Amino acid sequence: MRTLDDLDVAGKRVLVRVDYNVPLGPGRKITDDARIRASLPTLTELREKGARLLLASHLGRPKGRDEALSLKPAADRLAELLGEDVALAPSLDDVPDGDVVMLENVRFEPGETENDPALARRYADLADAYVDDAFGAAHRAQASTEAVAHLLPSAAGRLLEREVTTLQGILEAPERPLVAIVGGAKVTDKIGVLEAFLKSADRILIGGAMCFPFFKAQGHEVGASLCEDEGLEPARHVLDAGGEKLRLPSDLVAGRELSADTETRALDGVDVPEGWMGLDIGPRSARGYAEVIRDAGTVFWNGPMGAFELEPFAAGTRAVAEAIAESGAVTVVGGGDSAAAVAQFGLADRITHLSTGGGAALELIEGKALPGVEALS
Ligand code: ADP
Ligand code: MG
Repeated sequence: MRTLDDLDVAGKRVLVRVDYNVPLGPGRKITDDARIRASLPTLTELREKGARLLLASHLGRPKGRDEALSLKPAADRLAELLGEDVALAPSLDDVPDGDVVMLENVRFEPGETENDPALARRYADLADAYVDDAFGAAHRAQASTEAVAHLLPSAAGRLLEREVTTLQGILEAPERPLVAIVGGAKVTDKIGVLEAFLKSADRILIGGAMCFPFFKAQGHEVGASLCEDEGLEPARHVLDAGGEKLRLPSDLVAGRELSADTETRALDGVDVPEGWMGLDIGPRSARGYAEVIRDAGTVFWNGPMGAFELEPFAAGTRAVAEAIAESGAVTVVGGGDSAAAVAQFGLADRITHLSTGGGAALELIEGKALPGVEALS
């Protein structure tokens, strides 16, 4: 993969694909600017090397032009962080001159999500070189992430470079033991990752609603727990292949329903009674997982251990997050909700690498080629 070290940018206008798909609150105020801050190393390096910047990003899923999903808030925030004016281009036919200019939401353009070569040509005609720093969008082949990379001298930005080298490092030469912790809501989204870790990890710890297809496959009662039936077959296969590597919780915290003031109950075991939902791993499981994490050489975590957004069901996720923060291992956290959990517990700066790309990180771990990365190779 080509990096900024391979690209001559002095005096050039560089089209930089960033991931400014930031959460917006009331009044279109940015509620978390982490993705904008994450792009600063690349942008400042390019500016220091004498490049002018033309930034491109998507925001949300607009169908055509939609002022509610304008990148104006991102342009304003970037101007504050960079200490430079950031002009917003009203359209591709009307791009102002300037040292730092931002295009409007690329998804306003017909053809963006279809990887349309004609649209990519229009982007390319606006710049002399292309840098992709949008790791979170690298698993999609779109005009601003894939097609355009073939039309200009192109390279990965520092964020994309770090994401790819860190995640590939886990696959290729991890400090052992490699402990994979997989939780969250949907087993079917993550089955490919589990399969990959069956080959590469030394330990796999399962938590969250992921558990229930496994428990059901083992013949346990799951009550009203979130349990996808399509997850049963994959869970059976992982159980067969996992052997000693695989660990499931041995106790749970249950609730009547998914709410913070619901009746709760500690279960010493994993059979969930009728009318109850398993909503967190129990304290014995959390202690056991923390011990495995303490002895790890590398930890990869994706997916919370329970419904951590609700305080009665946050303890398992908090215990795992704290163990990860305290461990001397190389620690990598991927996934939007997992990253939110780490932030909620105030542990973000104690993780080696907090991935900015949920889907892209999982696809890379699964060993899939990312179109946005391939285009830079
Ligand atoms: P990530 O975004 O980190 O990849 P997911 O999106 O897969 O994680 O899952 C996160 C969601 O799963 C959280 O909103 C959390 O509340 C939910 N969750 C975790 N465990 C359970 C459970 N036992 N029952 C219901 N929801 C759960
Ligand atoms: Mg999620």
